[in-house]
Amino acid sequence: MSAVPLVGPHVYTDVDRAFWEEHLEAWAPPAITDAHVHVLDPEYRLETITEEMKRSYWVMELQDMQDAPTTERCYQTVFPGRRVSCLCFGWPSLGCEIEGGNEYVRTEALARGWRSLAVVRPSWRAEQVDWLLSLPGVKGVKPYYAMISLDRSGRDRHIEASIFDYLPHHQLEVLDQRRAWVTLHVPKAGRLGHPDNLREVREIRRRYPHITVVIAHLGRCYTEPHALQGLLPLAEDEGLFFDTSAVVNADVHRLALRHIGPNRLLYGSDNPVLYLRGRRQTHGTSYVNRTSLPFHFNRDREPAEVEARYTLMMYEDLKGIRDGCEALGYGPAEAEAILHGNAERLLAAANTG
Ligand SMILES: [Zn+2]
Repeated sequence: MSAVPLVGPHVYTDVDRAFWEEHLEAWAPPAITDAHVHVLDPEYRLETITEEMKRSYWVMELQDMQDAPTTERCYQTVFPGRRVSCLCFGWPSLGCEIEGGNEYVRTEALARGWRSLAVVRPSWRAEQVDWLLSLPGVKGVKPYYAMISLDRSGRDRHIEASIFDYLPHHQLEVLDQRRAWVTLHVPKAGRLGHPDNLREVREIRRRYPHITVVIAHLGRCYTEPHALQGLLPLAEDEGLFFDTSAVVNADVHRLALRHIGPNRLLYGSDNPVLYLRGRRQTHGTSYVNRTSLPFHFNRDREPAEVEARYTLMMYEDLKGIRDGCEALGYGPAEAEAILHGNAERLLAAANTG
């Protein structure tokens, strides 16, 4: 069969079909909830992605947005025969129109039986956040440190911020009253294990116990040393949840499964980013994304016969979760919990209005 277009430069090929059949078809449950997916019509983008921005950070070369119909179509392709639902949100960037984008995501999600989070700026008043949470289909918020202020040279100007710089207490109070959901992308080059992050996450859990806190990307712990530093200190908090998005590392998934457990992990893709074709290699606490696409960051290519076997990173990521589950003796019940049940249980209880 010929390649099916996904989003931007990404396509679905016979290699991907064969990978799904071999590694995922028998394992993936009949219903899947993607708890971390970016959906936005490109018309809400305000800025042009410049060459300088593309050279500054690899994700800048993966800025092709998926609108809701595209998301739906892609999921029929990449999850064949599955009932897929989403917890979706827009693009947390000041290069996008936030208010209109939030309303686009909310209404498109509602029309499909999906749920959404509103992207928020820290400057927004409590009343604004409360109004957003009063709208049908909105389960909570997606804060991000790049929303603090605009920097055209890249996205990491605020990476050393405090969580409270982009998720301020007056918003946390409203979220707690509404029993809302927060997908929290933690700051710091040191990732979740940075002492400030550990202290601030514990403070949020202590002061705002009714918020469903979901730490995005396993706390940005993409390597085993970071996962040991970040996940173990928070493993005892039974009320703290994590999404698996963009981790692409079977060792980290296994570690999270062992210490956090299958009932507190939520499958997330981080699509459209993880439609990227390739694989990730880690060395200590650093990693490199290998891909066959002609990006700036893709300077050190692998041999053509290796590249020919690349599949979608979202498939490599799912296989990593499967490998982690099998290493610990977890079967269909745990796969169902991670890929569907946990997210649905938490979404049913979050911000019920
Ligand atoms: Zn994301």
